[in-house]
Amino acid sequence: MEEKMMFIDPHVHMTSRTTDDYEAMAEAGVVAVIEPSFWLGQARTKVGSFQDYYSSLVGWEPFRARQFGIQHYCTIGLNSKEANNEALAEEVIELLPLYLHKENVVAIGEIGYDDQTPAEDKYFRAQLEMAKELGMVVQVHTPHRDKKSGTIRSMEVCLEHGLDPAMVVIDHNNEETVKEVLDRGFVAAFTIYPKTKMGNERMVEVVKKYGSTDIIVDSSADWGVSDPLAVPKTANLMLKRGIAKEDVVKTCYQNALDIFGKNGKMKESDWLNPKGIDQTELYNENSVLRGQVPKVDSDKIV
Ligand SMILES: [Zn+2]
Repeated sequence: MEEKMMFIDPHVHMTSRTTDDYEAMAEAGVVAVIEPSFWLGQARTKVGSFQDYYSSLVGWEPFRARQFGIQHYCTIGLNSKEANNEALAEEVIELLPLYLHKENVVAIGEIGYDDQTPAEDKYFRAQLEMAKELGMVVQVHTPHRDKKSGTIRSMEVCLEHGLDPAMVVIDHNNEETVKEVLDRGFVAAFTIYPKTKMGNERMVEVVKKYGSTDIIVDSSADWGVSDPLAVPKTANLMLKRGIAKEDVVKTCYQNALDIFGKNGKMKESDWLNPKGIDQTELYNENSVLRGQVPKVDSDKIV
């Protein structure tokens, strides 16, 4: 039997997804996910809402993922949209250092520009300084409007603050931005959206044209129309379209591990030597089960 391929989805908002998604992802070969902190579809009004959200990304959500055999990591930061509430943004910035050191936090993110306002610029720069000071990787969300100029500006600001481009992942790229990103030495991530923007077919063409070095595929699945299986689906389409397996492994697994593994918190041994699923475990006395028989891998005899 051919060995099953392993995938990492380095940008997926699992908080918004169901246990069915976790099961389907594990079945499709996803061994690890990275959940960037982001906005929740509507603006938060209190710093405590950010605190509880960050706490769930370093506590409950990794527990939930583990119950389905997936390793969960996250990136912590103040997103661009909510940077525009300056009074609140100040409080959130103060809070960040408490979380950046937690055991599953692999980068500062996702940060960057939305409407490219002065407040967004201010807090993007403040967080780049934090990243520099802590030697952390940065995950940059590029704007969906004025994509190309916003992407170039994001990189210029990173360079202005003295960041090493090899420590910065620029996300939400497309055919218009990828060359600029790679030429400057940054890592280019692509979000595969179903039916719109970057689709699987377009991703295949990008890899054919630009190769697999410094290119990462992710789903950015969240509470909107999105596909948590975008990484394995794109990988399978690449193979079908004749892209070499080693290039598929790089873009759908290894490149993400190389950059997000830099602070040593995300490592292959986390999933190569798993403890196995044990659904009898509880998190603060809470379970993901609702009366079902818990699945326990160590009980299996075949
Ligand atoms: Zn996102």
